[in-house]
Parts: sequence; C-alpha cells; structure tokens
Amino acid sequence: MSVTTPEMSENQPSNDNPLTGNTPLPRFDAIEPSHAVPALRSLLNDAGSALEKIYEGPVSWDEVALAEERILCAISNVWAPVSHLHSVADSEEWREAYGEAVMLLTDFHTALDQNPKRAKAWQALADSDEFASLSAPQQQVVNHTLRDFRLSGAYLEDVSQQRFAEIRRRLTELGTAFQQNVQDATDGWSQHFTDATALAGLPENELKQAAARAGEEGGYTINLEYPSYHAVMTYADDGELRETVYRAYATRASDQGPHAGQWDNSPLILEMLTLRRELAQLLEFDSYADYSLETKMAPTVDATLAFLRSLAEKALPHARRDMRELNEFAASQGAATPLKAWDLAYWSEKLREERFAVSDEELRPYLSLDGCLKGMLDVTNQLFGIEFRANADAPVWHPDVRYYDVVDAEGSKLAGFYIDVYARKGKRGGAWMGSCRDRYRWPSHSQLPVAFLNCNFPAPTPEQPSLLNHRDLTTLFHEFGHSLHHMLTRIPYPAVGGISGVEWDAVEQPSQFLENWCWEREALDGFARHVSTGESMPSDLLEKLLAARRFQSGMFLVRQLEFALTDLRLHQEFDPDDHGQVARIVSEVRAEVAVVPYPRGNRFLNSFGHLFAGGYAAGYYSYLWAEQLAADAFGRFQEEGIFNAETGEAFRREVLETGGSRPAMDSFVAFRGRQPSIEPLLASYGL
Ligand SMILES: [Zn+2]
Repeated sequence: MSVTTPEMSENQPSNDNPLTGNTPLPRFDAIEPSHAVPALRSLLNDAGSALEKIYEGPVSWDEVALAEERILCAISNVWAPVSHLHSVADSEEWREAYGEAVMLLTDFHTALDQNPKRAKAWQALADSDEFASLSAPQQQVVNHTLRDFRLSGAYLEDVSQQRFAEIRRRLTELGTAFQQNVQDATDGWSQHFTDATALAGLPENELKQAAARAGEEGGYTINLEYPSYHAVMTYADDGELRETVYRAYATRASDQGPHAGQWDNSPLILEMLTLRRELAQLLEFDSYADYSLETKMAPTVDATLAFLRSLAEKALPHARRDMRELNEFAASQGAATPLKAWDLAYWSEKLREERFAVSDEELRPYLSLDGCLKGMLDVTNQLFGIEFRANADAPVWHPDVRYYDVVDAEGSKLAGFYIDVYARKGKRGGAWMGSCRDRYRWPSHSQLPVAFLNCNFPAPTPEQPSLLNHRDLTTLFHEFGHSLHHMLTRIPYPAVGGISGVEWDAVEQPSQFLENWCWEREALDGFARHVSTGESMPSDLLEKLLAARRFQSGMFLVRQLEFALTDLRLHQEFDPDDHGQVARIVSEVRAEVAVVPYPRGNRFLNSFGHLFAGGYAAGYYSYLWAEQLAADAFGRFQEEGIFNAETGEAFRREVLETGGSRPAMDSFVAFRGRQPSIEPLLASYGL
C-alpha cells in the first residue's frame, strides 16, 4: 500500500486506551466511558491531516479509495463499541461521553461530505485509466461515492448550491416542527374518568395503564399516545367513546377536530412538498419521487405505481370480503351496521377472538428462548452450511451476553456474533442489529465482520426459563436475518459490504425472508418444543397460529397501499400552483383502494411522520417492495424444500455475500432467475 499513516497502522493495541488498535473484537472487559472521547478525538485529529494529504496526492484506487477507507474503518472500529455500549449499558457517564463523541463524529462527516478536494480526487479516480480495470465491487464503491456527491449538491453552481443548502436546512427545521406539532396535539388531548365504567371492555392490564396515567389524581386517564388510543379502539365497548377518541386522533395537528387550527401542520406540508420539488429540480429530476428512487431498487416511479396498483387489483376483492364479513359478524352480535371507522378495530378484535384466538400463554411453553435460539442457529446451519461455536473467551459487556465464532463447513472462521437477549435496566428498548466490525482487508490481515444482535426478552427467573411469544420469535429471526447479511458478506469494502450500500427498499429482504421459518410446520416442529415435556406443538394450536397470520390480510394490505400510493403520487405530481391538489390526491387514492369508511375531516396526512418527519418521503412503498422480494425469494425454498441446502447456498452466494456491491435487482435475478413477482407476496397474505 502506498499510503500509510503511522497513527492509522493496524492492529497495534495502544497501551493506554483499549478502544484503539483495531483489535479483532472490542476489549469490552476494559472499555470505560472515559476512553471514548480521547480515542475518537486523537483519531479524528490525525484523520483530518491524513485525508488532506490523500486528496492532494496521486490518484489511484490504492491512494484514494483504499487509503480513505483505512482511515474510516479505524474510526468506525472505535465508534461502533462506543455507540453500542451507550445503547446497552446506559449510564450518566456513557450518556455524556456518547453526546460529546457523536458531535465530534458529526462534524467530521459533515466536513468530509462537503470537502471539494475529496470530490475532485474521487472524480479523477473515476476518470482515470485504472477505473476500467477495477473489480465490479470497487467500481460500485466509486460510483456510490460520486452519486452521493451529486445528490448532496456538491456539483451545483455556487448560487444553486447555496439554495440547495438553504432548502435542506429549512426541510430539517420543518420536519422537526412537524413532529413537534404532532407531539403537542397528541399531548394536548386527554380524558379523565373517576371510575372504570366508561372504559368497560378494556382488559385488566390496559386499565392498569390508564390508572397509572391518572397518577395521584386517582381514577383513569386515556390520551392519544398510541398504546392508549389502540386500547380504546380495540376494546372499549362504548361506541361513543371510541368515536370521540377516533376523531381527536385522526384530526391531530390539523384544521379539524377538538383543537382545530392549533398546531396545524397543513401549511408545513405544503411548504415541504414545495421545497422537496425545488430540491429535486435543482438536481434535474422531474419530481421528488424521481429523486428518491435514484438510490432505490424500484426502477422508476411509474413502475412502482404499477407495482402498487397490481397489488391493489388483487387485494381489493379480498379486502371488500373482509369488510363484508366483519359487518355481518358485528350485525349478528347486534351492532348497528354498516360499521363506522371507529368500530372496525373493536369488532375485528371480537371476530379474531372468536375465530383464531391463540393466547401467548398457550404458546410460550413451546417457545423457550434457549430452544428458539438453538433452532435459529440450526436452521441457519442447514440452510447456509455455517456453524456457530460459542466462545466464552471473548470479552463481553454483561454476563448474559453470548458470543459465537461463525465458521464455514471447512472450519475456517467467517465472522463473529454477539447476542444480548434479555431486557435490563440501562438497555434501549426494542430489538435491533448493529455492526461491530466490518469485513475489511488491512495490509497485514483480514478483519472479519462481527454483528451485535440485541433484544429485550423477559429474563429467566429462578422458577422459569425465558419464554417467548410468537412475535418475539419472528423479531429474533428478523434481526438475525440482518445479522447474517452483515456477517456473511464476502466484500472487503465497508462502503458496499453487508448491509452497507444496499438500496433501502431492498435492505429488509434478508430479515423478512428469514421470518418465514417461524411460520413453517417443518421448522417449528424442530425447535418449538414444550419446555418440560419436550413435545412438539399440538397441530390444532399450530393451525390456529398459522390461520391467525392471514386474518384480515386483504384489509391490511389495501391500507398499506393507500399510504404508499398517496405518498408516491404526492411526491410525483405536486404542483404548488394547484390549490386543493393535496386533498384531491388523498381522496382519489381512497376512492381507488380504500375500504375503510373514512369520516369527513379525517386528516391522517397531518400526523403522518413517516412522510414529513422521517425518512420515508416517496419511500413508503419500500415496506411492500422488500416484502415482495422476501416472499418471492422464499418461494424458491417452498418449491425446492425449505431446508434445501443447495437453494440456501445460492441465496447465500447471490444475496447475502454480495451485499451492496451490485444492484439489488442483479442479486435478486441471479438468485431467482427472473425479476421479482407479486404472486408469492399475495400468497403469503393468503390472497
Ligand atoms: Zn429490519
């Protein structure tokens, strides 16, 4: 390698700071919060001058791409354990260290993204004679880097560049204000009851929550936070109460409802759509939807609309049938029909209880955490020929954490895997996968990918092992799918290895794909065994579990389609001079795909954070897109056997190992032999 900077040299543990040294695994037995900022600061200081030298020096793959990557990889080797420990072992000290470290890192990356010398050096590399001789993954690294420069406005003329930056800043402000309005409107409404009569129907646990909300005042409080809203809509027997709560919820941050005009997001929505359109036009896209799709797998806006509409065509008859059944059922129980919007969740729950009730308590004894974990590793072993070997020598951050070396059939080590399963104080909620080490080739040795998988399952007690419900099980498999994508990559360039650089409408493919093994009798029979008797799940219990998966799937699907179509059309067609266009698109899409009887004044868009305060603008369709890929990939396993090792090997080779090193469509076609089809997705919904 022609560029080496002594401070970046690999694998030399520094004698005083355990975060440095690019060790194969972080030294979790030694890392303290006080190590974070000094390690990062010294690394970033050195990085600044080293990078300047790189961008001013000769241009070649080694001297630009590889040299830059070496610096970034060393930084991420420090950052990954810091950010991880902040999430799983939170304390005052970690919070402080993390806060300071994250600012250092943000400033560093902002400067890097806007560095004109950097843009020039990468462009020169793309234009060099060497480029043609680079491997496809290397070319992908260069292309992605240049694409990101282009999309961040780096090549615009001065005036346009200024305007571009202004728009981005304003959009950030608007997103924050949008979210704030939704929060204020949510917080701004609640209702208090002195006794539980009005809340008849709510289960004991939900009543306890309502009592906890009321606090010292006593009695019960309901509000518009999702858990409270969901409990009332699903369980409250009083239809008028449900209507009141529904109307308050569906009009949050709008010109309608109990706080009409206060915290109204309507002008913000118009300004954001206007600015997004201008931003896209500055970069010479027809619309913001085209801009959004530039970095995604879905080919064009029209093709994506066609995908959504062909799903709608198939799903609508089923959704209408679901709705008819629901009305018939409610009528048979003496309800007034046709049901109103605020009746649907309530009667759906009653119908579900009657037809498919499978209680968590019935299932738990069959889903011990240890059994499920072993099952998950066995499934992966059968599918991909890899083995997980527990290694107690690896340092961990908590005694409950397990670490495995991942080895292939020949016994050579491929990756490392940490799993931290139990809920505990100081650990962030939910379940997530994180990268600990990326696959990378240092001049002297290869760095293997290492993943973190974190969940919040109930810890065992002296009387009882940890027992899961079925949602926990699918969550475990889902996050493990992401972990495999990271760990099985063969690409030694972190920018396009594993899940990095994968189009985000495709990145959920491996995770959703792996969930399928939680829904197959053949797989469940193997590991879902009674914790005391060792018997597999009785067939009637399994039947009910599988049938419940498809309950009202038509209605669920058309609702997703309504959101996705509204989002995409708004961002494709928006015209600031066409007043009333937003409301018109919303109602046109409803007329096209919705089966819910929306009342007048429903303003769901005004609190739709995915589109206006999250990253899903012109990207909501991604949920369905990735699900299509996952269902279709799994379809080949259904055809060839869900434990067929050859099929598993093909999925590993074409999808998991390649990561972001080539377009996700190429990987899919290489595995499936054709473009994705919607049929398996529909079949997975039972349609
Ligand atoms: Zn996911």
